[in-house]
Amino acid sequence: MYPKEYFLDRFKSDATDDLLHRYATADLSDEAREAIHSLLAARGIEGATLQPLVLQARKAVYRKSNGTKECDFCGSSAKFSALLDEGQRFCSKACLRNARLLEVAEEISPEEVLSHACRIKNSPCPECQQSSSKTEVRKYYRVWSAVVLTEWTKRTHICCHSCARKTNFGSVVFCALFGWWGVPWGLIMTPSQIFANIAEMLSPKADPAPSEELLQAAKLQLAAKLYKRRALEANA
Ligand SMILES: [Zn+2]
Ligand SMILES: [Zn+2]
Repeated sequence: MYPKEYFLDRFKSDATDDLLHRYATADLSDEAREAIHSLLAARGIEGATLQPLVLQARKAVYRKSNGTKECDFCGSSAKFSALLDEGQRFCSKACLRNARLLEVAEEISPEEVLSHACRIKNSPCPECQQSSSKTEVRKYYRVWSAVVLTEWTKRTHICCHSCARKTNFGSVVFCALFGWWGVPWGLIMTPSQIFANIAEMLSPKADPAPSEELLQAAKLQLAAKLYKRRALEANA
């Protein structure tokens, strides 16, 4: 374990923005955290000035582009029908909206997110209204091709085990019918998307604790509510 002095020396010539980014987003040791805290304080950033800048640095992470032809939110291919927004690329309006909601979500506490996720988990399935198994975020994969054009997606929905299996089965049929007709990506992606659906269908029923994906979905739902409330207040 390195002492605080080591980190003071290591970070002392870093730009303030880099220090803030590291402080806000990296998993730091106590010594590293204290060192950055002292360096920021020496530059006049402490107490009431620090928190808003940390929040801003956390939000800025969601504005980064991965620089590929894939969606910056979900990783699906976004080559032909991409939605471009402020240097980022998204596969759908929903992904753009979710990426922006993640910024709002930074203001919601992890405890609030966890309790909302547990509420979703123990509620009836939103698709069939049954309570036969725990409600969770489930994935399904699709691909379609037209000669030189192939698009593949990974989507999620919140539902029970049985609704998830039905959707995965439907997606296997979809891929088998529409996936192959592109060279070379149709031929490459179709088997892999079909297998991904089958793996989902064979996966065991969800754990009692909410998954990472469910926590993320809960966070987005809360963020959407917060965003709406703010918009109403702004218009009032
Ligand atoms: Zn996407
Ligand atoms: Zn269901």
